[in-house]
Amino acid sequence: MLKVFCAPARYTQGPDATRQLGSEIKNLGLEGPILILAGGSAVRLLEKIWVDTFAQAGLSYTVLPFSGECTVAEIQQGREAAVAFKARLILGAGGGKVLDAARAIAAELELPVVNCPTVASSDAPCSAVSVIYSPEGLVEEYRFFRRNPDLVLVDTTLIARSPARLLIAGMGDALATWFEAKVCAEGGVKNLRGGASTRSALALAELCYKTLLADGLGALQALRQQQVNESLERLVEANTLLSGLGFESAGLAAAHAVHNGLTTAPGAQRYLHGEKVAFGVITQLLLEDQPEAIVQEVLGFSKSVGLPITFAEIGIPYPTASLLETIALRTTVAGETIHHEPFPVTPQTVIAALRAADAAGAAFHRAQTL
Ligand SMILES: [Zn+2]
Repeated sequence: MLKVFCAPARYTQGPDATRQLGSEIKNLGLEGPILILAGGSAVRLLEKIWVDTFAQAGLSYTVLPFSGECTVAEIQQGREAAVAFKARLILGAGGGKVLDAARAIAAELELPVVNCPTVASSDAPCSAVSVIYSPEGLVEEYRFFRRNPDLVLVDTTLIARSPARLLIAGMGDALATWFEAKVCAEGGVKNLRGGASTRSALALAELCYKTLLADGLGALQALRQQQVNESLERLVEANTLLSGLGFESAGLAAAHAVHNGLTTAPGAQRYLHGEKVAFGVITQLLLEDQPEAIVQEVLGFSKSVGLPITFAEIGIPYPTASLLETIALRTTVAGETIHHEPFPVTPQTVIAALRAADAAGAAFHRAQTL
């Protein structure tokens, strides 16, 4: 099997990075007109800066407000607007769903795409994957595109003003990267591009984990003061770039499958992707029977930044046996990434690991309060 590594053509990050958006686009040889798909808060925060940066670069643009959900209808509407405007570049600005929709519009029109995330809540911005939802908000399909974004530009001044819960959720998503990448690399599992993992992808995934441990708390401190510091810079890079490259070029395993299982629990639905993934990481470690020191390290990190470590903290305080069975059945459905683990996984072993994760989390809380 050939090894495959994929990444955005360019990644740019730093305070007030948006001021250089026009020149970054120009330097890549990309041209307008640009169709900007943007969420409401992205428009409010950025519209004045867009006027300047695009005028300086001589790029014309128009803004299409995003409806809030990445649906087939939203993509169709964006596609029509892009054609009407004769757009030669699609730019997404906002949260994960805006970027997913922008990527899908660009792929359908075979146009280059620029992603400008305004939060660091997941590993999606650098990827060539979009999640398409039904108008009711349920996952409909995953679309895999030929190419990763041409540019991902992250303005850390914006991230420093974003809600702490979103940055913490991004840490939860990034917490899974190293543990899932290791499973895939050691097991010779195909990554999301159908190739084997490179040593580079694995090294980046490990750096992702180490960065969380070193800079998670410092980054949160910066966010509370709405200031950019070096910890926030490193943490945003871990959540966005390292985690994105790690998951796409190495692969996923139990933690994300447990997340998918948890989406069947009504109480867990108001919790963010990265929050459910974080509980999935602890479940994966117990499923794999990892050494106590690793489990304690992950519990310690999660608790320190405020990620969930018990059932109660993901909205299912007293799960019934039948709810746990529903979660486990979804987690172990054929084709799920939990089957990348190097041993057979059954709904029964998942239920046992879920219970063990909750018990370990509760015991950790108790030990901390003594
Ligand atoms: Zn994820």
